[in-house]
Amino acid sequence: MMKTPADQRTICCDSCSLPAVSLDPLSGAHFCASHFNARFEDAVARTITESRMILPGDRVAVALSGGKDSTVLAVLLAKLHPDLRDSGLVAITVDEGIAGYREETVGSACKLCERLGIGHLVVSFGDRFGATLDAMVRESPKRACTICGVLRRTLLQQAAAEWGATKVATGHCLDDESETALMNCLSGAAGRISHAESGPGAGVPRIKPLRAMSEKDITLYALLNDIPIPRAECPYARTSLRAEVRGMMGYLEYRYPGTAAKVVEGYSGIAESLRRHRTPLPARRCTLCGQPSSGEHCQCCTILRMVGQGPEPGAPTKRSGQV
Ligand code: SF4
Repeated sequence: MMKTPADQRTICCDSCSLPAVSLDPLSGAHFCASHFNARFEDAVARTITESRMILPGDRVAVALSGGKDSTVLAVLLAKLHPDLRDSGLVAITVDEGIAGYREETVGSACKLCERLGIGHLVVSFGDRFGATLDAMVRESPKRACTICGVLRRTLLQQAAAEWGATKVATGHCLDDESETALMNCLSGAAGRISHAESGPGAGVPRIKPLRAMSEKDITLYALLNDIPIPRAECPYARTSLRAEVRGMMGYLEYRYPGTAAKVVEGYSGIAESLRRHRTPLPARRCTLCGQPSSGEHCQCCTILRMVGQGPEPGAPTKRSGQV
């Protein structure tokens, strides 16, 4: 049946009479732009405070890929923590060397840092590892994301340590966290479930201030606040297991709102319980680079050797901050 004009009335914010731009699927509450923004920023600030993510004296390196999530994170850290702006906040962009994709996002990251007035470091696979990701992928049967994930994490840690960061902030959101939880279960990676991301040997501690925010809300926040979002998508993204898990989680979240949050909550409980009962592994170092490692070779050196860029046994041991 055709809708009459009376049926098409504007839905208003539950907190004021302005038109709503957002619906919370769990509570059914509607929010206008201004109440949505306030609620979003409060939630991020609460995540940071409750988990003591940023403490006085911290120097925070934000991992800025130039994509939506990390861009919103950089904007929010500059806004919520103006005390960091002088010399306590820097953005680090890793240029993996992905033709037709990284150029746009690196450019977008540079412009954002200028606008925010914060320092910006760009580090590349080419400079640090001797080859771009595109070149490495041609040399290896491994999936691009497997190579990229390990090397990017290593490079980010090294750049952050060189700058003197006490925390590395990443833009992981609720969707990312639920996907990771499911991927670790699907791949039987029991060790990764209890893997602590802080503590001796883990490098500069990571914080995830957006971990409770959905990707949908992050996108809306960016749109409402004129935060530029590059359109480019990594050409390798569709080849990853994560892409398939994302599709599954998206469907479940649509059918049963709140699924992602429940997956993360359940997974965190299991991880915490496993951690409490875990026998600490003996402290070991990679025999190639000297960095902390659970095996003879760390993940980074293993990948680099696989793609023909790694040091050979007996090469001088490298220290933190070197590749
Ligand atoms: Fe790297 Fe994969 Fe992300 Fe592309 S989609 S940037 S290859 S992890």
